[in-house]
Amino acid sequence: MWTIEDGIERIRSRGLKITSQRIAILKLLKGRKDHPSAEKIFREMKKTYPTISFATIYSTAQILQDAGLLQILTIDEHRVFFDPNPHPHAHFRCDKCGTLEDIPLDEGLLDGIRSSSSHDIDTVQVYCYGTCRSCGEQGPTTTRPRKNTRVH
Ligand SMILES: [Zn+2]
Ligand SMILES: [Zn+2]
Repeated sequence: MWTIEDGIERIRSRGLKITSQRIAILKLLKGRKDHPSAEKIFREMKKTYPTISFATIYSTAQILQDAGLLQILTIDEHRVFFDPNPHPHAHFRCDKCGTLEDIPLDEGLLDGIRSSSSHDIDTVQVYCYGTCRSCGEQGPTTTRPRKNTRVH
């Protein structure tokens, strides 16, 4: 897991300015395991920086993603989530309650994807959808479960 100093170093190495807002975003994201949505980070940042814009949050997240410190997850059609763990792993989202969880990814699977493509692959995102354990225990509902796995 990276440190605030790592984050500052990576931002600086890209020739970008270190602002107190960017440092605050680093601090908010560092070590988090709850996959906060961009909106949630925006709300949390607004407590300290009432004038901060959503664009600042998002552009900082993109810098961190380019620097290899953050994954921007597009697992949901309506929201993006941030994951400060850049190590490759799959994600699961419950169709009923929206819970987002990590799934370990076998390195062999990643190597298989890379070797079956002639392109130079930097990032692999694996998104899994279904019903989480606690929703499953509540029994079947009338909503039709959607099961699919998307790799992109
Ligand atoms: Zn659920
Ligand atoms: Zn994750």
